[in-house]
Amino acid sequence: MPRFKKSRPLAVCTVCGAYTDLVAYVNSRCHKTVNGRRCSGIFRSGLGQTWAECGSCNAYGKVGSESCRECSGFGWKLLK
Ligand SMILES: [Zn+2]
Ligand SMILES: [Zn+2]
Repeated sequence: MPRFKKSRPLAVCTVCGAYTDLVAYVNSRCHKTVNGRRCSGIFRSGLGQTWAECGSCNAYGKVGSESCRECSGFGWKLLK
């Protein structure tokens, strides 16, 4: 297990819900490909949103030595 919990993702895609923790992506277009087309969403700041620690990895982003599938390794989930 990694020793430190991850901090919350910085931003969330408005369309596909992908997370990013890179400052450069905040307010820019999502880079994910959905059904062979580039996602049309924008990464919006996750500040002020309610995040919950992932129940599978407890915000470590990993389960054993594997990246957590539940949260894609981010360790957090946005509460909707
Ligand atoms: Zn997206
Ligand atoms: Zn997780």
